[in-house]
Amino acid sequence: MFELRLRTAGAVPDDAPVVLVPAFDAPVGSVAVLSVAADGPTRQRVVAVGLGDRDTCDPRRLRVASMTAGRALAAEPEVATTLPSVLGDTTAAILVVAEGFSVGRYRYRGGVDAELTLCLGSGTGGEPDAPEVARALEVAGTAAEAVEWVRRMVDTPPSDLTPAVFAERIAERASAAGVKCEIWSGDRLVAAGFGGTLGVGRGSAHPPCVVHLWTGAQATDPAPVLGLAGKGITFDAGGINLKRDPDEIAWMKSDMAAAAAVVAAVCAAARLGSVRAVHAVLPLAENLPGPGSLLPGDVVIHPDGSSTEVLDTDNEGRLVLADAISFLVGEGVDGVIDVGTLTDGGGVGHLLWGCWGTSDRLIADLLAAGDRVGDAGWHLPLREEYAELFASPVADRSNRARDVPDIGLTAATFLSRFPRGVPWAHIDNGGTAYLGADLPPWAAGPTGSPTRALLELLLEPDATVYTQ
Ligand code: MN
Ligand code: MN
Repeated sequence: MFELRLRTAGAVPDDAPVVLVPAFDAPVGSVAVLSVAADGPTRQRVVAVGLGDRDTCDPRRLRVASMTAGRALAAEPEVATTLPSVLGDTTAAILVVAEGFSVGRYRYRGGVDAELTLCLGSGTGGEPDAPEVARALEVAGTAAEAVEWVRRMVDTPPSDLTPAVFAERIAERASAAGVKCEIWSGDRLVAAGFGGTLGVGRGSAHPPCVVHLWTGAQATDPAPVLGLAGKGITFDAGGINLKRDPDEIAWMKSDMAAAAAVVAAVCAAARLGSVRAVHAVLPLAENLPGPGSLLPGDVVIHPDGSSTEVLDTDNEGRLVLADAISFLVGEGVDGVIDVGTLTDGGGVGHLLWGCWGTSDRLIADLLAAGDRVGDAGWHLPLREEYAELFASPVADRSNRARDVPDIGLTAATFLSRFPRGVPWAHIDNGGTAYLGADLPPWAAGPTGSPTRALLELLLEPDATVYTQ
């Protein structure tokens, strides 16, 4: 794991080996080595990153340029940059550059420790020693490290990240952040009624478990508690409905990306002093065909006592999320956000997660948070009538929509039965969590989405009471 040290300075240090500068009117994200200054104390390379048209430059474009520069300079241990100057050295610009550059540097193998010095012009918004500059660097560093942890978890070979191992990794991270953590397995899971999760894990030699994280208010504190649920399928072979497409099954180690994102956001928020009270539930399981696997036609019972007929064992994510949502609702949370790599993310591409739900306010807050930090989503509609597609003659519902393709909308429709009046938002990060090919400024592989959006929401100062 690389460690990036961020610091600010009033001017470019003479001994900086690499100086990263903005280049207006060059294509956004283009990178060029401009010159080598050999007359200083050390050889200094000047690297320019394109920002497009000066008049329309905004934080979003600055983030893309910073990520691209981070990626291009990933092997450099020391970089100084004047990039925040393009938006007046504001704390927002400082945060965007520090975070974007750090996120862009991610490599699963061969990351190097590095120091990024942000060179701020005098007389502008960002004085190097100002407390708000220190806070921006703290948020940027913590957020970038959270995103990196998610990507590292996703990139870990699935046999090295079984449900039990993943749970341990989560517990270590929670402990370091001062977040309370419990791991439930075996009889404890049976007693809590996590029938979907137990069912999904039945075909694997590595049994399922559920991780609980708590932050914020005590039981006696009336502050609203936000419930978070994250799908943690450490490998999804599809179960008995085995995935037959080699191009699809090849990246199914990423099916735990949502659980990792929820954990990373909750722990980072705690480190940054978030006042939000959170209860997160992460069901972890391996979905394999095996002697004990769920069979199409089996019925599982969720914590709310309702039943689901499993017509397709490859629709396992909604089974474990149904457990988590119904458990959280039973615990009396005041709002629920669930996250899962369920489908292609609602068909809105690899740069937007799909979002459905019952609380326009919660969804609006989530979308605004994601937009601010370059981890954006898109609100898609639910229609009550589609629930009929899940009718089952032997259970309260089935897990596969009848006679229509299974898409983000149908997965969200299935889940919409579980919040039972509690304000709810569902994020499908199946499009954004893992890229099969480069999509600049992102490299192929895990992105960490929607960690950054969730963290931004949790850092909002008011514990909003959401309404339907
Ligand atoms: Mn599946
Ligand atoms: Mn899956």
